[in-house]
Amino acid sequence: MEMSSLPLKERTLYIPQMSYEGAACMAAAFRSIGVNAQPTPEDDIHSYELARRYLSGDECLPEAVTLGGFLKIAERPDYDPERTAFLLPTSNGPCRYGHYLPLAQKVFHQIRGEAVMFTAPTSNDGYGGIGDEAQTLVRTGWRALVAADLLRKMLLITRPFEIHSGMSDQAFNVSLEDICSVIALRNVSSRKKLLALADALKRSHDRFLSIPVDRYRFKLVIGIVGEIFCRHNHFSNNHLFRRIEKLGGIVWISDIAEWVLYTTDEEEMRLRRYGKQLSFQMLGCKLKQAVMRHDEHVLSSIFVESFAEYPEPKHVREILELARPYLPREGANGEMVMSMGKTLWYQQKGVAGVIDISPFTCMNGIITEAVYPRVSRDFRGFPIRVFYFDAQKNDLNNDLEIFMELAAHYAAHKKASSG
Ligand code: SF4
Repeated sequence: MEMSSLPLKERTLYIPQMSYEGAACMAAAFRSIGVNAQPTPEDDIHSYELARRYLSGDECLPEAVTLGGFLKIAERPDYDPERTAFLLPTSNGPCRYGHYLPLAQKVFHQIRGEAVMFTAPTSNDGYGGIGDEAQTLVRTGWRALVAADLLRKMLLITRPFEIHSGMSDQAFNVSLEDICSVIALRNVSSRKKLLALADALKRSHDRFLSIPVDRYRFKLVIGIVGEIFCRHNHFSNNHLFRRIEKLGGIVWISDIAEWVLYTTDEEEMRLRRYGKQLSFQMLGCKLKQAVMRHDEHVLSSIFVESFAEYPEPKHVREILELARPYLPREGANGEMVMSMGKTLWYQQKGVAGVIDISPFTCMNGIITEAVYPRVSRDFRGFPIRVFYFDAQKNDLNNDLEIFMELAAHYAAHKKASSG
């Protein structure tokens, strides 16, 4: 079928909700270069059921949820495929992530016969006609991801202590809107925009600090690792964060920026492996990392005091080195290594336990689950548990209650033995 050639700027671009705040901030980054972008609607069982009509059973949960989000857009009365685009990056490799795009193309182009566009910030289609502004988008997009991560973390460490239920969520929503409106500013220099975003984050920080809280409430800090989509997408993980909070926990989650930093570090390692230490590619890679770290530092320094009890590594290699005795980066790859290393990071920082969120059948969870018992033994029964998700209703609360009980015992025992 002949696809329509309308460029991206004449379409509405929808961004899948890996996390709602991440998608909202990324959509704002696209708006800053003149692309009308929005997050896909909230994922739910309806969007999942829409996707199921086209699934063979081999797909992982994030793949189905992403497709369902696009199909939900296609249900809207004003849906015009020729004026619609979906953000859908792809990759090579054994993970099913490389299968998302062919599946979506098959469903929309071949089965439904629609000229909808699929694009990605790393696209080889000239970025859907935004080639000149691609660099600006990449930098703004990075800042958008970092801002979304910071806002999420602020919400997660405030909400468990709020005295009036709902105030943290309200502060979060107002702040997200504020941040998105700054990210979406057009024709502003890169430096001015960074400072404006830092100001918006300061306002957000103050908003959270003004919420009445009771810090004397006893809480168990629970580290969250696992598959990146499932751990951030509330529908996919069955609203695990709020369930943990209801059982007296604080969620400390591995964020999205951490994953991006890992992929850039992997790029550097690859260049070294191929003897390209002194090459233009290496120079480009180093420059990119320096710019990313600079922007991240400017934005995250606003939260230093608030996050003092929840520190993040200065460099992603600290996490990879912690993983080394169990899953060395040279022998294993991707999320399983990051989950392993971050679990050890959390253990060192004194959390009561770690939950690894995994879509059912995803190899990351299967491999980490095989290694965690050794980690747990090495650290006096440190509670680590993989929770699998497949969009089916199961009795998550029972399992979670047992895990929180174990975490409480571990924390109490540790306190008693430390005097
Ligand atoms: S990591 Fe697992 S769940 Fe995520 S896309 Fe790959 S196969 Fe699917």
